Amino acid sequence: MKLGTIMTMLGMGAVLAACDCCPQGEAKALSQDKELRAVMDNFTQNEVPAATPLVEKREVELIRLVSLVTQQSGALLQEEVATALAQGLAPEEILEAIYQCAPYTGFPRTVDAVEIARSVFKAKNVKVDENRATVTAQSRLEAGADAQGTLFGQTFRDMAKNGKSGMPTINYFLASNCFGDYYTRKGLDLNTRELLTMAILVNLGTEPQLKAHIGANLKIRTAEYVEQAIYNCLPYCGYPRTLNALRLLKEAVAETKAGAAGATVAKSMPGKDWSVFPVGKPNDAYAKYFVGKSYLDMISKEQVGVGNVTFEPACRNNWHIHHAKKGGGQILIATAGRGYYQEWGKPAVELKPGDVVNIPAGVKHWHGAAPDSWFQHLAIEVPGEGTSNEWLEPVSDEDYGKLK
Ligand code: MN
Repeated sequence: MKLGTIMTMLGMGAVLAACDCCPQGEAKALSQDKELRAVMDNFTQNEVPAATPLVEKREVELIRLVSLVTQQSGALLQEEVATALAQGLAPEEILEAIYQCAPYTGFPRTVDAVEIARSVFKAKNVKVDENRATVTAQSRLEAGADAQGTLFGQTFRDMAKNGKSGMPTINYFLASNCFGDYYTRKGLDLNTRELLTMAILVNLGTEPQLKAHIGANLKIRTAEYVEQAIYNCLPYCGYPRTLNALRLLKEAVAETKAGAAGATVAKSMPGKDWSVFPVGKPNDAYAKYFVGKSYLDMISKEQVGVGNVTFEPACRNNWHIHHAKKGGGQILIATAGRGYYQEWGKPAVELKPGDVVNIPAGVKHWHGAAPDSWFQHLAIEVPGEGTSNEWLEPVSDEDYGKLK
């Protein structure tokens, strides 16, 4: 199929009669609008690159590609694919940058862009390695959660530990599809994909998600670099979205600094005088029911079982129910640090040393540390008949994220 035919099918015949990548013609977009072309070329090719020296040429090309895909460009995307090839980018990199747009823009923009890139490859007789997937139906959830964990923190790996059935649908889709199907592919490394995701979201202007991915980029790159990457989106998304992105960057930088202080707390174990009870050993047997790291020391194994549980900052157990036919339930006595207890459908209650919580059998609840503090409580098993524990889904980041 001729390029012109494909462009007509894509509804772009009117935009572009011919292009500089096909043998039939040499015309660029805006061949009759030379003044606009000059303004665009000067801004895009001269002024923005001069203001953004930290962003490598290859990354500039990739940011331009995903920006054009997100903005549903036809004529300029076709030119950019040819430029990227001329700059030495591999066709696999170009295609993977376009694929990376799918989970953020949806398939329609991505599929149209793939067709345009393929038409340029065909005109230039560029061959592509077509085997770039690294996951299977069985491995995509774990591999995706691993990528998510690398970029956003261990919580995302922990959430996927119990598989699809233990996860809310949206979390499962994000881990298996958004991260598992795309971030794991060959052709672009994880850090480059995260840069491109941020660029896609700058172009889309979806603020909460953009802020999260700016935060992920700040773990990999300096704030100056991120700012310059955002400027490379400006010619494609315009000033309003660029200004919004710069504001979110400022907010994320401030929050990252605050978060770094919290992370320092998390790394260092509590001192000797922190509690009269020891921290105990890693709570490996129950780790699958916890988000984050916890420690257990059985104070009493006879008469009434009493366990001393220590939670690192932000660690909490999943929603669970202590079942009993008669009696049963659990008593918590906070002994050190600061934490929370929450019953299903009720607000979380802050716990400080000396606080006591009586949990009746059959009540769905969770307990754990505050986001910025270690926490320790004694957990007393109230004797009863037919007692058992039922472990349920993790506390959502949305709910836990509201706690101070
Ligand atoms: Mn409990």
